[in-house]
Amino acid sequence: MSMELSKKSMSISPSPTLSIDAKYKEMIASGMDVVGFGAGEPDFDTPRHIKDAAIEAINKGFTKYTPASGTLELKKAVCKKLLDDNSLAYAPSDIVISNGAKHSLVNVFSAILNPGDEVIIPAPYWVSYPEMVKLADGVPVILQTTEESGFKFTPKQLKGAITPKTKALILNSPSNPTGMIYTEQELSQIADVAVEHNLFVVSDEIYEKLVYDSNTHCSIASFGEEIKALTIVVNGMSKSYAMTGWRIGYTASRPEIAKIMANVQSHATSNPSSISQAAAVAALNGPQDSIDLMKKEFSSRRDYMVRRINEIPGLSCLNPQGAFYVMMNIKNVLGREIKGKIINSCDEFCAHALEVCRVALVPGSGFGAPGYVRWSYATSMENIKKGLDRIEEFVKE
Ligand code: PMP
Ligand code: GLU
Repeated sequence: MSMELSKKSMSISPSPTLSIDAKYKEMIASGMDVVGFGAGEPDFDTPRHIKDAAIEAINKGFTKYTPASGTLELKKAVCKKLLDDNSLAYAPSDIVISNGAKHSLVNVFSAILNPGDEVIIPAPYWVSYPEMVKLADGVPVILQTTEESGFKFTPKQLKGAITPKTKALILNSPSNPTGMIYTEQELSQIADVAVEHNLFVVSDEIYEKLVYDSNTHCSIASFGEEIKALTIVVNGMSKSYAMTGWRIGYTASRPEIAKIMANVQSHATSNPSSISQAAAVAALNGPQDSIDLMKKEFSSRRDYMVRRINEIPGLSCLNPQGAFYVMMNIKNVLGREIKGKIINSCDEFCAHALEVCRVALVPGSGFGAPGYVRWSYATSMENIKKGLDRIEEFVKE
């Protein structure tokens, strides 16, 4: 019997970051000596006091449903964080707690999009954005940036991409996969365009704590009431507190948008884990020193990786300002024979590197950046050295 399945869902491609990570883990499990730079998740352990809060929640019997959009205690902790870190005043009714920032983003698009609404996505983009927009019947409109502009778009470019159907812009600073950060001045100009054209700004700030050197993070929502009303701030616990598996993300927005998302979530998943929510309260309200330790380590790994890549003939990269990824430019090795095979694309480069030298990297194609390959430096220095040694040997003529 043949039954037609959902055309929309069938058009969604699998997450390349998660697929490569799964493949890498499978190879490791079968005893192969693979070095993985696939999924970006901090390799640090979740800090002790956060784990203790979860254990206490379990022991106290805090193991039942909570309000679908999250506990009041966690919403208050999020409000305090947004005020202290980002100078943004929100009330608990503006906050929705979800199962990771990924889920928050899916909620956002289902709350703001109608069929055919266009969402501007600057490329290189995080792999999931276009698919999330499509799932909500929206149309992704890709705004291409270049390495020459530091992978940033200008207000003029943004204006050029706006049509009567444009509903929103996705902003991800610090960026996955490029690590670039928009300055306050650039953000204020982007905010002006968004206000002028009445666009929602979906501001994914999940890497806000992972900024290096003298770089700082600023939320676009902080440039006044008009842009704040148009912005939906998305953030979460995964990257700042090494809590990827706990699945807690959140949004801050106008209360009417929060209400729609809460309603959708109440039917889709109900509340995120009560135990993880208790842990998230401890993460936000407790000591923050683990972030500095992670940052210090990430920053020296980045320095090492960037130096080594730029020393390899044919390969190059910019110095990322935040997050924990490096976009490596491989355009100069395309068309060349590498270890017995002509390599014509970043996909072929990654597939061949995995097969021949057992290094798992993510091709730029999934990020809207053909000609590039993404490394994650959320892995030990030992692995980073090993991976770079292997890639250096791999591309050697
Ligand atoms: N946004 C970006 C840019 C990311 O890299 C990630 C990492 N997966 C997420 C959102 C979602 O993170 P999580 O669902 O683990 O909170
Ligand atoms: N955000 C991480 C990455 O880009 C985790 C994997 C995912 O959720 O896509 O690798």
